[in-house]
Amino acid sequence: MTRPIITLRDVQKYYGDYHALRGITAEIGEGEFFSLLGPSGCGKTTLLRTIAGFEDITSGAVLLDGQPMEGVPANRRPTNMVFQSYAIFPHLSVAENVGFGLRRRTDLDRRAKQTLVEEALTMVGLGGYGARAAHALSGGQRQRVALARALILKPKVLLLDEPLSALDKKLREQMQFELRRLQRQVGITFVLVTHDQEEALIMSDRVAVMFEGQIAQLDSPQNLYRRPLNRQVADFIGVMNFLPATVSVEDGQGINADVAGLGRAVIDPEQAPGGATSGAACVGIRPEMMSILYENEQTDRRIAEGVVEERAYYGDMTYYDVRLDGIEKPVTISMKNIVGRPVLDRGTATRVSWDARSLVLFNAA
Ligand code: ADP
Ligand code: MG
Repeated sequence: MTRPIITLRDVQKYYGDYHALRGITAEIGEGEFFSLLGPSGCGKTTLLRTIAGFEDITSGAVLLDGQPMEGVPANRRPTNMVFQSYAIFPHLSVAENVGFGLRRRTDLDRRAKQTLVEEALTMVGLGGYGARAAHALSGGQRQRVALARALILKPKVLLLDEPLSALDKKLREQMQFELRRLQRQVGITFVLVTHDQEEALIMSDRVAVMFEGQIAQLDSPQNLYRRPLNRQVADFIGVMNFLPATVSVEDGQGINADVAGLGRAVIDPEQAPGGATSGAACVGIRPEMMSILYENEQTDRRIAEGVVEERAYYGDMTYYDVRLDGIEKPVTISMKNIVGRPVLDRGTATRVSWDARSLVLFNAA
Protein backbone atom coordinates (compact mmCIF):
# COMPACT_ATOMS: atom_id res chain seq x y z
CA MET A 1 0.00 0.00 0.00
CA THR A 2 1.07 3.59 -0.62
CA ARG A 3 1.34 6.20 2.15
CA PRO A 4 -1.92 6.19 4.17
CA ILE A 5 -4.21 9.11 3.37
CA ILE A 6 -7.02 7.82 5.60
CA THR A 7 -6.37 6.14 8.92
CA LEU A 8 -9.23 4.68 10.94
CA ARG A 9 -8.43 3.59 14.49
CA ASP A 10 -11.01 1.55 16.36
CA VAL A 11 -13.84 3.79 15.16
CA GLN A 12 -17.03 3.25 17.18
CA LYS A 13 -20.36 4.86 16.43
CA TYR A 14 -23.59 4.65 18.41
CA TYR A 15 -26.96 6.03 17.32
CA GLY A 16 -28.57 6.07 20.76
CA ASP A 17 -28.38 2.41 21.83
CA TYR A 18 -27.69 1.18 18.32
CA HIS A 19 -24.06 0.19 17.75
CA ALA A 20 -23.61 1.07 14.06
CA LEU A 21 -19.77 0.92 13.80
CA ARG A 22 -18.09 -1.67 15.98
CA GLY A 23 -14.39 -0.95 15.97
CA ILE A 24 -13.31 -0.10 12.43
CA THR A 25 -9.54 -0.11 11.94
CA ALA A 26 -8.09 0.38 8.47
CA GLU A 27 -5.64 2.36 6.39
CA ILE A 28 -6.43 3.59 2.90
CA GLY A 29 -3.51 4.54 0.67
CA GLU A 30 -2.84 7.66 -1.35
CA GLY A 31 -4.15 7.19 -4.90
CA GLU A 32 -6.00 4.00 -4.05
CA PHE A 33 -9.38 3.00 -5.44
CA PHE A 34 -10.90 1.56 -2.30
CA SER A 35 -14.39 0.11 -1.82
CA LEU A 36 -16.61 -0.49 1.17
CA LEU A 37 -18.76 -3.49 0.28
CA GLY A 38 -21.52 -5.03 2.32
CA PRO A 39 -25.24 -5.67 2.57
CA SER A 40 -27.70 -2.87 3.18
CA GLY A 41 -27.58 -1.61 6.77
CA CYS A 42 -24.05 -2.84 7.59
CA GLY A 43 -22.75 0.70 8.19
CA LYS A 44 -21.10 1.69 4.89
CA THR A 45 -22.74 5.12 4.61
CA THR A 46 -22.17 5.79 8.30
CA LEU A 47 -18.45 5.07 7.89
CA LEU A 48 -18.21 7.28 4.80
CA ARG A 49 -19.98 10.12 6.62
CA THR A 50 -17.61 9.86 9.59
CA ILE A 51 -14.66 10.24 7.19
CA ALA A 52 -16.35 13.24 5.53
CA GLY A 53 -17.13 14.84 8.88
CA PHE A 54 -20.93 14.76 8.50
CA GLU A 55 -21.13 12.41 11.47
CA ASP A 56 -19.34 12.50 14.85
CA ILE A 57 -17.80 9.30 16.09
CA THR A 58 -18.44 7.95 19.59
CA SER A 59 -14.81 6.88 20.13
CA GLY A 60 -11.68 6.02 18.19
CA ALA A 61 -9.93 8.25 15.66
CA VAL A 62 -10.15 9.34 12.04
CA LEU A 63 -6.95 10.78 10.54
CA LEU A 64 -6.76 12.37 7.11
CA ASP A 65 -3.31 12.83 5.62
CA GLY A 66 -1.90 12.21 9.07
CA GLN A 67 -4.01 14.88 10.81
CA PRO A 68 -6.53 13.92 13.54
CA MET A 69 -10.00 15.08 12.43
CA GLU A 70 -11.62 15.41 15.83
CA GLY A 71 -13.52 18.70 15.86
CA VAL A 72 -12.73 19.48 12.20
CA PRO A 73 -15.95 20.28 10.30
CA ALA A 74 -16.73 18.74 6.91
CA ASN A 75 -15.90 21.89 4.94
CA ARG A 76 -12.40 22.02 6.44
CA ARG A 77 -11.56 18.42 5.53
CA PRO A 78 -9.63 17.46 2.38
CA THR A 79 -12.56 15.32 1.25
CA ASN A 80 -15.55 15.71 -1.00
CA MET A 81 -18.59 13.50 -1.40
CA VAL A 82 -20.75 12.31 -4.30
CA PHE A 83 -24.14 11.01 -3.29
CA GLN A 84 -26.42 8.26 -4.55
CA SER A 85 -29.12 10.68 -5.66
CA TYR A 86 -27.80 13.34 -7.99
CA ALA A 87 -27.62 16.29 -5.66
CA ILE A 88 -27.47 18.90 -8.42
CA PHE A 89 -29.49 22.09 -8.74
CA PRO A 90 -31.99 21.62 -11.59
CA HIS A 91 -32.62 25.36 -12.10
CA LEU A 92 -28.92 26.13 -12.70
CA SER A 93 -26.90 25.46 -15.84
CA VAL A 94 -24.39 22.64 -15.98
CA ALA A 95 -21.50 25.12 -15.66
CA GLU A 96 -23.14 26.87 -12.68
CA ASN A 97 -23.57 23.52 -10.97
CA VAL A 98 -19.97 22.51 -11.52
CA GLY A 99 -18.63 25.92 -10.46
CA PHE A 100 -20.84 26.09 -7.38
CA GLY A 101 -18.05 25.24 -4.94
CA LEU A 102 -15.83 27.99 -6.40
CA ARG A 103 -18.30 30.83 -5.79
CA ARG A 104 -16.53 32.09 -2.64
CA ARG A 105 -13.04 31.74 -4.07
CA THR A 106 -11.92 35.37 -4.29
CA ASP A 107 -8.44 34.32 -5.44
CA LEU A 108 -9.86 33.25 -8.82
CA ASP A 109 -11.30 35.63 -11.42
CA ARG A 110 -14.21 34.79 -13.72
CA ARG A 111 -11.99 33.59 -16.54
CA ALA A 112 -9.98 31.28 -14.26
CA LYS A 113 -13.18 29.79 -12.86
CA GLN A 114 -14.54 29.22 -16.37
CA THR A 115 -11.35 27.39 -17.32
CA LEU A 116 -11.56 25.16 -14.24
CA VAL A 117 -15.23 24.39 -14.96
CA GLU A 118 -14.50 23.48 -18.58
CA GLU A 119 -11.56 21.30 -17.52
CA ALA A 120 -13.71 19.45 -15.01
CA LEU A 121 -16.48 18.94 -17.58
CA THR A 122 -14.02 17.60 -20.14
CA MET A 123 -12.66 15.21 -17.53
CA VAL A 124 -16.07 13.60 -17.04
CA GLY A 125 -16.87 13.53 -20.76
CA LEU A 126 -19.18 16.58 -20.77
CA GLY A 127 -16.95 19.09 -22.54
CA GLY A 128 -19.10 21.75 -24.24
CA TYR A 129 -22.19 21.01 -22.09
CA GLY A 130 -21.68 23.99 -19.76
CA ALA A 131 -24.54 26.15 -21.04
CA ARG A 132 -27.17 23.40 -20.88
CA ALA A 133 -29.87 23.40 -18.24
CA ALA A 134 -29.16 20.76 -15.60
CA HIS A 135 -32.79 19.60 -15.53
CA ALA A 136 -32.55 18.58 -19.19
CA LEU A 137 -29.78 16.02 -18.55
CA SER A 138 -30.14 12.24 -18.40
CA GLY A 139 -29.42 10.34 -15.17
CA GLY A 140 -25.93 9.37 -16.28
CA GLN A 141 -25.11 12.94 -17.29
CA ARG A 142 -26.35 14.32 -13.96
CA GLN A 143 -24.07 11.95 -12.11
CA ARG A 144 -21.17 13.16 -14.28
CA VAL A 145 -22.03 16.75 -13.34
CA ALA A 146 -22.01 15.76 -9.66
CA LEU A 147 -18.57 14.17 -10.19
CA ALA A 148 -17.21 17.24 -11.97
CA ARG A 149 -18.51 19.46 -9.18
CA ALA A 150 -16.76 17.31 -6.56
CA LEU A 151 -13.47 17.09 -8.48
CA ILE A 152 -13.17 20.80 -9.26
CA LEU A 153 -12.39 21.47 -5.59
CA LYS A 154 -9.35 19.15 -5.93
CA PRO A 155 -9.98 17.09 -2.80
CA LYS A 156 -7.33 14.61 -1.64
CA VAL A 157 -10.09 12.04 -1.18
CA LEU A 158 -13.32 11.60 -3.10
CA LEU A 159 -16.04 9.73 -1.21
CA LEU A 160 -18.72 8.14 -3.38
CA ASP A 161 -21.88 6.70 -1.80
CA GLU A 162 -23.44 4.23 -4.25
CA PRO A 163 -23.10 6.79 -7.07
CA LEU A 164 -24.18 4.38 -9.80
CA SER A 165 -27.00 2.48 -8.13
CA ALA A 166 -29.77 4.60 -9.70
CA LEU A 167 -28.55 3.89 -13.24
CA ASP A 168 -29.72 0.99 -15.40
CA LYS A 169 -27.39 -1.96 -15.99
CA LYS A 170 -25.75 -0.98 -19.30
CA LEU A 171 -25.15 2.61 -18.25
CA ARG A 172 -23.89 1.48 -14.85
CA GLU A 173 -21.30 -0.80 -16.49
CA GLN A 174 -20.14 2.03 -18.74
CA MET A 175 -19.87 4.43 -15.78
CA GLN A 176 -17.92 1.85 -13.75
CA PHE A 177 -15.34 1.76 -16.48
CA GLU A 178 -15.23 5.55 -16.77
CA LEU A 179 -15.03 6.10 -13.04
CA ARG A 180 -12.00 3.82 -12.87
CA ARG A 181 -10.38 5.64 -15.81
CA LEU A 182 -11.11 8.99 -14.17
CA GLN A 183 -9.60 7.87 -10.87
CA ARG A 184 -6.37 6.81 -12.62
CA GLN A 185 -6.30 10.11 -14.49
CA VAL A 186 -6.71 12.41 -11.48
CA GLY A 187 -4.73 10.09 -9.19
CA ILE A 188 -6.62 10.98 -6.01
CA THR A 189 -8.00 8.45 -3.54
CA PHE A 190 -11.52 7.23 -4.26
CA VAL A 191 -13.56 5.52 -1.55
CA LEU A 192 -16.61 3.89 -3.11
CA VAL A 193 -19.56 2.51 -1.17
CA THR A 194 -21.41 -0.28 -2.92
CA HIS A 195 -23.56 -3.30 -2.10
CA ASP A 196 -22.73 -4.82 -5.51
CA GLN A 197 -19.89 -7.33 -5.19
CA GLU A 198 -19.15 -7.37 -8.89
CA GLU A 199 -18.83 -3.58 -8.95
CA ALA A 200 -16.39 -3.71 -6.01
CA LEU A 201 -14.26 -6.43 -7.62
CA ILE A 202 -14.13 -4.77 -11.05
CA MET A 203 -13.19 -1.32 -9.84
CA SER A 204 -11.09 -1.57 -6.71
CA ASP A 205 -7.47 -1.94 -5.74
CA ARG A 206 -8.67 -3.15 -2.36
CA VAL A 207 -12.04 -3.85 -0.78
CA ALA A 208 -13.25 -3.88 2.82
CA VAL A 209 -16.13 -6.34 3.21
CA MET A 210 -18.40 -5.21 6.03
CA PHE A 211 -21.06 -7.00 8.05
CA GLU A 212 -22.92 -5.51 11.02
CA GLY A 213 -20.61 -2.58 11.64
CA GLN A 214 -17.37 -4.52 11.33
CA ILE A 215 -14.82 -5.24 8.62
CA ALA A 216 -14.85 -8.99 7.97
CA GLN A 217 -11.98 -8.91 5.46
CA LEU A 218 -9.88 -6.18 3.86
CA ASP A 219 -8.07 -7.47 0.81
CA SER A 220 -7.43 -7.33 -2.93
CA PRO A 221 -10.30 -8.48 -5.17
CA GLN A 222 -8.40 -11.66 -6.09
CA ASN A 223 -7.68 -12.61 -2.50
CA LEU A 224 -11.27 -11.94 -1.48
CA TYR A 225 -12.52 -14.23 -4.21
CA ARG A 226 -9.89 -16.96 -3.99
CA ARG A 227 -9.12 -16.95 -0.29
CA PRO A 228 -12.10 -15.62 1.63
CA LEU A 229 -11.49 -15.66 5.39
CA ASN A 230 -14.80 -17.21 6.28
CA ARG A 231 -17.99 -18.58 4.80
CA GLN A 232 -19.89 -15.34 5.19
CA VAL A 233 -17.37 -13.48 3.01
CA ALA A 234 -17.19 -16.40 0.56
CA ASP A 235 -20.94 -16.39 0.21
CA PHE A 236 -21.22 -12.63 -0.27
CA ILE A 237 -18.48 -12.52 -2.93
CA GLY A 238 -20.03 -14.65 -5.68
CA VAL A 239 -21.20 -18.25 -5.33
CA MET A 240 -19.40 -20.96 -3.42
CA ASN A 241 -20.30 -24.58 -2.75
CA PHE A 242 -19.68 -25.73 0.82
CA LEU A 243 -19.00 -29.40 1.54
CA PRO A 244 -18.56 -31.00 4.97
CA ALA A 245 -15.04 -32.31 5.54
CA THR A 246 -12.89 -34.00 8.15
CA VAL A 247 -9.32 -32.71 8.36
CA SER A 248 -6.02 -33.60 9.96
CA VAL A 249 -3.11 -31.19 9.77
CA GLU A 250 0.26 -32.64 8.87
CA ASP A 251 2.97 -30.58 10.56
CA GLY A 252 3.82 -27.74 8.20
CA GLN A 253 3.03 -29.79 5.11
CA GLY A 254 -0.42 -30.13 3.57
CA ILE A 255 -3.76 -30.45 5.25
CA ASN A 256 -5.36 -33.83 4.69
CA ALA A 257 -9.07 -33.53 4.11
CA ASP A 258 -11.78 -36.08 3.52
CA VAL A 259 -14.37 -34.08 1.61
CA ALA A 260 -17.98 -35.22 1.21
CA GLY A 261 -18.71 -35.93 -2.45
CA LEU A 262 -15.12 -35.36 -3.59
CA GLY A 263 -13.04 -37.75 -1.46
CA ARG A 264 -9.54 -37.30 -0.08
CA ALA A 265 -7.52 -34.21 -0.90
CA VAL A 266 -4.35 -32.50 0.29
CA ILE A 267 -4.94 -28.80 0.78
CA ASP A 268 -2.18 -26.17 0.77
CA PRO A 269 -2.20 -24.25 4.11
CA GLU A 270 -2.44 -21.04 2.00
CA GLN A 271 -5.92 -22.20 1.05
CA ALA A 272 -6.97 -22.14 4.69
CA PRO A 273 -6.90 -18.33 5.18
CA GLY A 274 -9.00 -18.48 8.34
CA GLY A 275 -6.62 -21.02 9.89
CA ALA A 276 -7.11 -24.78 10.03
CA THR A 277 -7.91 -26.93 13.00
CA SER A 278 -8.19 -30.69 13.04
CA GLY A 279 -11.53 -32.41 12.99
CA ALA A 280 -14.84 -31.31 11.53
CA ALA A 281 -14.44 -28.57 8.92
CA CYS A 282 -15.93 -27.31 5.69
CA VAL A 283 -14.46 -27.11 2.22
CA GLY A 284 -15.49 -24.51 -0.35
CA ILE A 285 -15.24 -24.71 -4.13
CA ARG A 286 -16.40 -22.16 -6.71
CA PRO A 287 -18.77 -23.28 -9.53
CA GLU A 288 -16.19 -22.60 -12.27
CA MET A 289 -13.55 -24.67 -10.48
CA MET A 290 -15.47 -27.84 -11.26
CA SER A 291 -16.12 -29.07 -14.76
CA ILE A 292 -18.58 -31.52 -16.27
CA LEU A 293 -16.83 -34.01 -18.55
CA TYR A 294 -18.53 -34.75 -21.82
CA GLU A 295 -18.87 -38.35 -22.96
CA ASN A 296 -15.36 -39.77 -23.42
CA GLU A 297 -13.49 -36.60 -22.46
CA GLN A 298 -10.24 -37.44 -20.61
CA THR A 299 -8.60 -35.50 -17.79
CA ASP A 300 -5.64 -35.63 -15.42
CA ARG A 301 -7.75 -34.04 -12.73
CA ARG A 302 -9.67 -35.81 -9.99
CA ILE A 303 -13.12 -37.09 -10.87
CA ALA A 304 -16.39 -37.38 -8.94
CA GLU A 305 -19.63 -38.81 -10.24
CA GLY A 306 -23.12 -37.41 -10.02
CA VAL A 307 -26.45 -36.64 -11.66
CA VAL A 308 -27.71 -33.33 -13.12
CA GLU A 309 -30.66 -32.21 -10.99
CA GLU A 310 -31.30 -28.76 -12.42
CA ARG A 311 -29.88 -26.44 -15.03
CA ALA A 312 -30.10 -22.76 -15.83
CA TYR A 313 -29.14 -21.57 -19.31
CA TYR A 314 -27.67 -18.02 -19.44
CA GLY A 315 -26.61 -17.91 -23.09
CA ASP A 316 -22.88 -17.71 -22.57
CA MET A 317 -22.95 -20.04 -19.57
CA THR A 318 -25.02 -22.87 -18.19
CA TYR A 319 -25.26 -23.41 -14.43
CA TYR A 320 -25.87 -27.00 -13.37
CA ASP A 321 -26.93 -28.35 -9.99
CA VAL A 322 -25.25 -31.73 -9.76
CA ARG A 323 -25.85 -34.17 -6.94
CA LEU A 324 -22.53 -35.91 -6.34
CA ASP A 325 -22.56 -39.48 -5.05
CA GLY A 326 -22.70 -39.54 -1.27
CA ILE A 327 -24.03 -36.04 -0.57
CA GLU A 328 -27.51 -34.64 -0.07
CA LYS A 329 -27.17 -31.08 -1.33
CA PRO A 330 -26.26 -30.66 -5.00
CA VAL A 331 -23.23 -28.58 -5.99
CA THR A 332 -23.47 -25.74 -8.52
CA ILE A 333 -21.15 -26.01 -11.51
CA SER A 334 -20.83 -23.36 -14.22
CA MET A 335 -19.86 -24.30 -17.76
CA LYS A 336 -19.06 -22.06 -20.71
CA ASN A 337 -21.29 -22.86 -23.66
CA ILE A 338 -19.01 -23.67 -26.56
CA VAL A 339 -19.69 -25.12 -29.98
CA GLY A 340 -19.97 -28.89 -29.86
CA ARG A 341 -20.85 -29.03 -26.17
CA PRO A 342 -24.56 -29.72 -25.75
CA VAL A 343 -26.56 -28.40 -22.82
CA LEU A 344 -27.29 -31.39 -20.61
CA ASP A 345 -30.79 -32.43 -19.57
CA ARG A 346 -31.97 -33.02 -16.05
CA GLY A 347 -31.30 -36.60 -14.94
CA THR A 348 -28.10 -37.00 -16.98
CA ALA A 349 -25.41 -39.02 -15.21
CA THR A 350 -22.12 -37.11 -15.41
CA ARG A 351 -18.51 -37.16 -14.39
CA VAL A 352 -17.24 -34.01 -12.71
CA SER A 353 -13.56 -33.05 -12.66
CA TRP A 354 -11.97 -30.85 -10.00
CA ASP A 355 -8.54 -29.88 -8.70
CA ALA A 356 -7.47 -29.86 -5.04
CA ARG A 357 -5.71 -26.49 -5.60
CA SER A 358 -9.08 -24.77 -5.96
CA LEU A 359 -10.42 -25.90 -2.58
CA VAL A 360 -10.70 -23.46 0.33
CA LEU A 361 -10.80 -24.77 3.87
CA PHE A 362 -13.03 -23.18 6.52
CA ASN A 363 -13.70 -24.04 10.11
CA ALA A 364 -17.02 -25.81 10.59
CA ALA A 365 -20.09 -23.77 11.68
P1 ADP B 1 -25.53 1.07 4.76
O1 ADP B 1 -25.05 2.32 4.12
O2 ADP B 1 -24.47 0.01 4.85
O3 ADP B 1 -26.77 0.53 4.12
P2 ADP B 1 -25.99 2.78 7.08
O4 ADP B 1 -24.62 3.21 7.43
O5 ADP B 1 -26.84 3.75 6.36
O6 ADP B 1 -25.91 1.39 6.30
O7 ADP B 1 -26.76 2.36 8.39
C1 ADP B 1 -26.22 1.43 9.34
C2 ADP B 1 -27.21 1.24 10.45
O8 ADP B 1 -27.30 2.43 11.22
C3 ADP B 1 -28.61 0.92 9.97
O9 ADP B 1 -29.19 -0.05 10.79
C4 ADP B 1 -29.32 2.24 10.08
O10 ADP B 1 -30.71 2.06 10.34
C5 ADP B 1 -28.64 2.89 11.26
N1 ADP B 1 -28.64 4.36 11.14
C6 ADP B 1 -28.09 5.08 10.13
N2 ADP B 1 -28.24 6.40 10.33
C7 ADP B 1 -28.93 6.54 11.49
C8 ADP B 1 -29.40 7.66 12.25
N3 ADP B 1 -29.19 8.92 11.84
N4 ADP B 1 -30.07 7.40 13.39
C9 ADP B 1 -30.27 6.13 13.80
N5 ADP B 1 -29.84 5.04 13.16
C10 ADP B 1 -29.18 5.22 12.01
MG1 MG C 1 -25.84 3.36 2.47
